[in-house]
Amino acid sequence: MPEEHIITKVSELSTPKCPVCGSTLVVRIGYITKSNGLKVQRFKCKMCGRTFTELEGTPLKGVHDIKLTLLVAYLMLHLRLEPNTIARITGKPYTTVKRISRKVIEHRRFFENILAVLLDAADYSETYWHRAKSANEYC
Ligand SMILES: [Zn+2]
Repeated sequence: MPEEHIITKVSELSTPKCPVCGSTLVVRIGYITKSNGLKVQRFKCKMCGRTFTELEGTPLKGVHDIKLTLLVAYLMLHLRLEPNTIARITGKPYTTVKRISRKVIEHRRFFENILAVLLDAADYSETYWHRAKSANEYC
């Protein structure tokens, strides 16, 4: 799943809101491309003029590896794995996984929501395939 898609889902969970004045009167002003090639939507507040990205105000702001963060969140919240087990599975340094796990615990609600949304999308296509398959069996 591309990271842009994940970010779109994240921003769908909450309407863009100015981090300075709290106004939701904002306009889209294009994208910024991060160092890892990730494109993030930018907004400008109509009330105070401040610009910000769609990750502003979410726990994913400033996260370098969004996919790894969500993977760790999934392994922790759904499979109840400990950070040292996750480090072994993913081959990432324990300190990295530990740092992410602290973020996941701190923003547990947010990560549960975003995982539910992302897993729902995956479930849907699987259900679709099952339906298509069983429909074929009756032919
Ligand atoms: Zn503002």
